[in-house]
This record gives sequence, structure tokens and C-alpha cells, in this order.
Amino acid sequence: MLGERMARVHGEEARAQFLAFLNYLELKGIIIEPDWLARTGLDEDTLALQQRQLAFLLDVLGSPERAAEIQRKISQARLVCFGVGAVGSWLLRQLLGLGFRRFVLVDHDRVEAADVSRHAFFNAADATTGAYKATAVAERMRAQFEAMEVTAKTEPLTTESVLETLIEPDTDFVINAADEPYIGYTSVLLSRFCVPRRLPLLVVGGFNAHLGSLSELVIPGVTPCADCYADYFRNALKDWTPVEHPVLDRRDAAGGLCSLAVFAAGTAAMKVFRYFMGEGDSEGGRGELLFDNYRLDAFKVERQPNCPICSSL
Ligand SMILES: [Zn+2]
Repeated sequence: MLGERMARVHGEEARAQFLAFLNYLELKGIIIEPDWLARTGLDEDTLALQQRQLAFLLDVLGSPERAAEIQRKISQARLVCFGVGAVGSWLLRQLLGLGFRRFVLVDHDRVEAADVSRHAFFNAADATTGAYKATAVAERMRAQFEAMEVTAKTEPLTTESVLETLIEPDTDFVINAADEPYIGYTSVLLSRFCVPRRLPLLVVGGFNAHLGSLSELVIPGVTPCADCYADYFRNALKDWTPVEHPVLDRRDAAGGLCSLAVFAAGTAAMKVFRYFMGEGDSEGGRGELLFDNYRLDAFKVERQPNCPICSSL
């Protein structure tokens, strides 16, 4: 109608230019059909719960089809999460918010009173009954959203673990938020399993020195793997002697701050989201919020040329 009026007042050429301009705006995603959400073909639940996020994706990508495709990929993806303590729980809470619905949780630990104040899902009763962390988190996740598919496994992650039974073939993404016995060891263990299978691995958290970590995403064949990181630090720190800590036995004295766990989990959740958007970081590196001076510190880590794990691809 507007086009006809334009032709009448300004002539046929002006109308053609106007329509071409409208077409251009539509192609660029600047103007969009008012019922674009309904046209995505996503189910009603997803549309109702994720509409703000879909609008965000539309803003960033400019394409309703791409926005819907990413949301669909997210709701179908199967994630295995090792460690559902403070960092793991806040990460899971945010992954639920982003629309992820299929999880396997692996944690052999039980809830203690000190966990409740730092955790996204626990309550005081969990500590009283000494519930398994994985079981309690799975229960809360099911209560929070419908269409949840979550399995809790309460076996420890050790070098004896049969990883094939924990990370089944239809897994799309693996998370390591397990700080026992030490996140460096469990990450190498998981990375050696994931990289040859081309499975992405996110390493998040880490107690003591690196509470505000920005997480590391291992994309097989693209970024350094956990062995590359270990090798890099072995070289970088070869002349460094650790300063003796005043507390000799620190096993029961590992520090933690709820807000730092939330920070580490929040930045990691955005990394997962970016990966599913196809915008995953292609470079390796390590970054963290330094609590002492409230600054973000980051540096690059390269893939090691002789890494036996990376070169197996
Ligand atoms: Zn490597």
C-alpha cells in the first residue's frame, strides 16, 4: 500500500528504490516480520522461556533462522559435567537459563554444611542428610524446568574410571568443574579422552590460587589441549620455586568465595554459549579476575608443536 502511494506521488522509480531498500533492511535483519518467533518452528515452551534470548541472538546475528537453529542445537545438546560443587552448580544453573536440557552429572562427593552457602541448588537439609551432590542437583534441576533429561552418577573420577561409560557416544560437550584431586590432573585425563574423539572440553574453576578463573575451552584441532597447557607451564615455570605456605596441610583448608564461583561460572557459561553460536574462541589462553587488585589478567597459550595428543588428530 505504501509502495502504491509512493508510485502515485513520486513515480515508479522511487517505488522500486523504496522496495529495494526495504528488501535490504529485511535481509540485514534490521526489519523483521512481527511473527518471526512463531515462524521459527521452536516448541511453545522454548519460545515462552527463551524469547528474550532469541531476541538477543537476532540482534547479534541478524537472522531469525540462525537464531532458531542455535536455540534448537542448545536444547538438543547432551552435556556431561564433572563436579557439581560451587562453580559447577552455578554453571549448570546458567546453562539451564540458556536453554540446555540434557545433562549427565558426575560427582562422588556428599553435601556438607559449608557447601550450602556457596551453592546454586543446595539447602540446609541436604547437608543434614549428607545427600550426594550429583543426586541433589539433578533433583532440583528436574523441579525447576520441564523437559529435563538429567542423570546423576556418583562414582569418583580417577585414572581407573572407564570414561566410555561416563561420556557416552552421543555426548556433545564435556565440562570439568571437578577440583579433586586437582583440576590439572582431571583435565589432562579428560582432555586425553575428548581430543581424539573431537569432543570440546571446558575447564572451569580450580581452588586455591585461581578462584576467579575465566575458564579454558579445549576445541580439538583448534586450541591447545590440557597437555599443551601442562607443557607450556612446565617450561614457563621451570625456574620458579614455590613459596612455602604458612598452612602446611591445606587439604581441608581450601578457600572459596561464593561470588568468585559465580563469576567463574558466569564467564564460562558465556564461553559455552559462544561455542554453540559458532563463535568459540579459536585461541588458547588463561585469564582470571585477580581479587587483590580487582583487575582482569590474561595471557595466550599456544598449541605445543610436539604435543602427542593434538598430533593424534
Ligand atoms: Zn595438545
